Amino acid sequence: MAAIWAGRSFTNRSVTVLDTAKKLGAKILVSGGGRCNVTHDEVDEMAYAGSSRNAIRKVLRRFDVPETIAFFRELGVVLKHEETGKLFPVTDSARTVLNALLSAAHEAQVTIRHPYRVETVEKQDDKFVVAGPWGQLEANKVVLATGGQSLPKTGSDGHGVAIARSLGHSVTRRIFPGLVPLTLPKDHFICGLSGLTIPATLDLRSPTGKKLVSFTDSTLCTHFGLSGPSVLDISRYYIEAKLDDPESRLTINWLPDSTTEQIDHELQNLGRSTPLKLLGKRLPERLLRALCIDASIEPTTPGDQLSREQRRALAQRLTQLVLPITGNRGYNYAEVTAGGVPLSEVHLDTMESRLCPGLYLCGEICDVDGRIGGFNFQWAWASGYVVGIGLAR
Ligand SMILES: Cc1cc2nc3c(=O)[nH]c(=O)nc-3n(C[C@H](O)[C@H](O)[C@H](O)COP(=O)(O)OP(=O)(O)OC[C@H]3O[C@@H](n4cnc5c(N)ncnc54)[C@H](O)[C@@H]3O)c2cc1C
Repeated sequence: MAAIWAGRSFTNRSVTVLDTAKKLGAKILVSGGGRCNVTHDEVDEMAYAGSSRNAIRKVLRRFDVPETIAFFRELGVVLKHEETGKLFPVTDSARTVLNALLSAAHEAQVTIRHPYRVETVEKQDDKFVVAGPWGQLEANKVVLATGGQSLPKTGSDGHGVAIARSLGHSVTRRIFPGLVPLTLPKDHFICGLSGLTIPATLDLRSPTGKKLVSFTDSTLCTHFGLSGPSVLDISRYYIEAKLDDPESRLTINWLPDSTTEQIDHELQNLGRSTPLKLLGKRLPERLLRALCIDASIEPTTPGDQLSREQRRALAQRLTQLVLPITGNRGYNYAEVTAGGVPLSEVHLDTMESRLCPGLYLCGEICDVDGRIGGFNFQWAWASGYVVGIGLAR
């Protein structure tokens, strides 16, 4: 994106992309399950974390969703809206998106060299020397668009952060996987429910039980723990909170419309009916049985035979089950990287470095990570555009 707009803006300078990847755009090809979720209907700064939301907004509004749709339409990629608000190419093929970007780069006279791994970028007076095993190149301006560390086999292995550091930038105290599945102990009953998908609310709670962040969406039980949009969305908040305070915890509400008190009340009024009958229509039976067993209740026990403690234990597991998360699946399974170069270190109108004039940054190397649903690409398109235009200034 940065190269396309730089190529379109400059007529008298050459624009060269150096990419370490053997296969260009591998991350685009695997994105959105091979369909590439290009953007989202409603993009605003609240869908992002990392740098200040005000800074993120300033960049996003320079190239918004209608502009993204128009840009791709101009490249021959028509996008369709899905019910979830996500936008995909009508072809349902990520290849369409990648091919269109490569053609646009070609038309903008951009030279793409690959596999060209960049090991070092040095500033020498008013020029940069970019070097790798292939040799070296001199440039007046350099853009670091090396991505984060997720799915390192695609070429984005985090080396860009080391390059940014060598040129005087700081990076956030922490860099960690985001949009990543979370693991549970192997013998946890959730692992035995592998394949079950259900809408649920995930709550991040402080050690005192205060709700800090909440996501309600489809939730997937797997053999290793939990995945699905709700889990991916909350993962970066959980990982960060846990690093700050190991007592932070994640709870799940399997009945997003109900509170613990409401369920306790319903169980109290069961009479001869059973928890299985009461909740059988609202939850899959497999899950309901597992929750009852975890609360030491036989699911067909009539309500009037449940002790107060049993009733409370079940209501709590249904609406506020504490998840004993053991970790996350790491960068090989993460869709984004949290942390990176803070936006406070770039001029937001051009994305040029405040510390190293002539150096520009865009995309996931910046300390910006978005929710699932096309937000990370929208950040890449918008910040890439700002760089491309900014280079020509
Ligand atoms: C499995 C998966 C699915 C995803 N699906 C979606 C989705 O549907 N929608 C969405 O919005 N987001 C999605 N994302 C996130 C999205 O792909 C990224 O946020 C986005 O690609 C970031 O763009 P970028 O250009 O900053 O970095 P990248 O796309 O990672 O590109 C960085 C490029 O830099 C190159 N590079 C890195 N280091 C060097 C070096 N030292 N020398 C030379 N070249 C180097 C790499 O080879 C790579 O081509 C997904 C991510 C993953 C992993």
